[in-house]
Amino acid sequence: MDFFLYVLYVLLGILAILFVLFLIGLIRMWSIGTKETYFELSTDQARIDEYSEKLSKMVQYETVSYRGAPDPEKFRGFHKVLESLFPTVFLKLEKIEIDGNLLMKWKGKNPDLQPIILISHQDVVPAEGEWKYPPFSGTIADGKIWGRGAADIKCGVMTFYQAAEELLKEGYVPECDVYLGSSCTEEIGGDGAPKIVNYFKERGIRLFMLCDEGGSLVQNPVAGVKGNFAAIGLFEKGYGDLKFIARSHGGHSSTPPKNTPIVRLAKFEAAVEKKSPFTRKISKEVNATFLSLAPYCKKPALRYIMCNLWLLGPIVKDLMPAISAEAAAMLQTTIAFTMQKGSDGYNVIPQEAYVTGNLRYIPHEPREASNKKIADFAAKFGLETEVIYATPHTKALDLNGEPYRITVDTIHKIFPGVGIMPYVVTGGTDSRFFNDICDSCVRFSPVNFGPEQLKGMHGLNENIEQGTLPPAVDYFKELIRAQEGRK
Ligand SMILES: [Zn+2]
Repeated sequence: MDFFLYVLYVLLGILAILFVLFLIGLIRMWSIGTKETYFELSTDQARIDEYSEKLSKMVQYETVSYRGAPDPEKFRGFHKVLESLFPTVFLKLEKIEIDGNLLMKWKGKNPDLQPIILISHQDVVPAEGEWKYPPFSGTIADGKIWGRGAADIKCGVMTFYQAAEELLKEGYVPECDVYLGSSCTEEIGGDGAPKIVNYFKERGIRLFMLCDEGGSLVQNPVAGVKGNFAAIGLFEKGYGDLKFIARSHGGHSSTPPKNTPIVRLAKFEAAVEKKSPFTRKISKEVNATFLSLAPYCKKPALRYIMCNLWLLGPIVKDLMPAISAEAAAMLQTTIAFTMQKGSDGYNVIPQEAYVTGNLRYIPHEPREASNKKIADFAAKFGLETEVIYATPHTKALDLNGEPYRITVDTIHKIFPGVGIMPYVVTGGTDSRFFNDICDSCVRFSPVNFGPEQLKGMHGLNENIEQGTLPPAVDYFKELIRAQEGRK
C-alpha cells in the first residue's frame, strides 16, 4: 500500500476514535441534564428569636482556648450556660465530662444498633482588631448573631442541643444511642477530641456515623456553577510541619562565598513554587465533586468537562492549579513555606538557616511518601529535612454507604432545593481523631455559610444569619429520627 495512503488511514482511524469518545462524552452530558437550586432562610419568627437568643448567650460566654494553657474550669462554666439553655438535655442524658470536654449520652431503644455522635467544638480562636459589634457581645442585629464563635461553631453545638431538647420534650426515644460531643481544644489541635475517642475505645464502642463541621450550605462553589449546595466533606488531608535546614561554615559577609545557606533555601523555595514535586491525581472523590456539580453548570463546555473527567482528567489536572488554589489543593499534597530564619547579625552569614513548610497530604501520596519526596527534592539543594509533626490523611466517607445515604436523604428532606456536593476538606477538624472508632465521618454543618460568614471565621466580624438556625435544628432532629430506618 502507498505509504501516504497508510498514514491517511491511521489518521482517519484516530480521528474516528476521538469523535466516538467525544460523542460518548456528549451523551453522558445529555443524560445528566441540567438542574437549578433554590434555598430560603426560615421566616418562623418565634423560633428565630428563641434560637438567636440562645446562641447569643453562648457567644457571650468567652471560650478562647490557648496552646499549652488548658483551662477546664472555664469550659465547665460554659457547660453551666448550656445547662441553663437546654435543661431537658441535662436532666435526661448522662453527662460525661473529661477535662472540660463534654459528652452527653442519650440512651436509645436498640442496644444492638451502633450509636451515632454529633460533635462541634466549644472553644473559639481569640478575637483581635476592631469589630463592628464587640466580639463577645452576642449582638443580634441586621438579621444576624454577631461574635466570635457564632459561626465557628457554637451554632453547631446550639442546633444539635436544641434538636435533642425538642425531641426529648416530645417524649422521643432514639433508635440507637446518640452522643452529643464537644471538645474544648479543637482550635489549638489539642487532646480534647482524642480524650473523647478514648472514652469509646475503653468501652469497645464503635460508632455508626459521626457528624461534624467541615462542610456546610454554600453558594457558587466553583467558577461557572451558581446556586446553593450542601458541601459534604468526605475526608481530610493529612497535616505536616517540616523544617528544611541549610548548613555552612559561615564566612565573612564582606567576602561572600557562593551558595550560602540563605541562597540555597531561596533556590529550593523558588523551585518548589515553579514546579511542585508532588503528583496530581483526580481521585474518585474529586470526580464525584465535579460530577455532582455538572447539572448546575451553565457553561456547556465546562459542563462537558465536569461530566467527563474520565476522558479529560489528564488535561484538567494540569490546568486546575492555574484556575484555583482551592481546586488544586484537592488534587495533590501541598506545601506552604511559613517561617524562616538565618543568622542573628546583619553582617553574619549563617552557619545554619532554615525554612519551615506546612504540608497537607493527599491519600494517593500519603504522609511518608510525600515527606520522602520533598526531602529528596530538598537534598538536591544541600538541605536536610526534619519532620517536626505529621498526621496522616483520614479515611474517606463511602459514597455508596448507608451513612452517606442517610445524610443525603436528610439534606433533601430539610433543604429540598439545594444541590449535593461531596468534596475534599483541605483544613482540619476534630473528626480526624475518630477514625479508629468510626468509619463514616460526615463533615457537614447544616447552616448557611455565605461569603460574609466564611470571611468572619477566625477573622473580623464573625456572624451567622438568624434564619439559618431553625432548619439546622430540623436537620439534626431528622437525622436522629432517620436512624430508625437503618438496615
Ligand atoms: Zn471550627
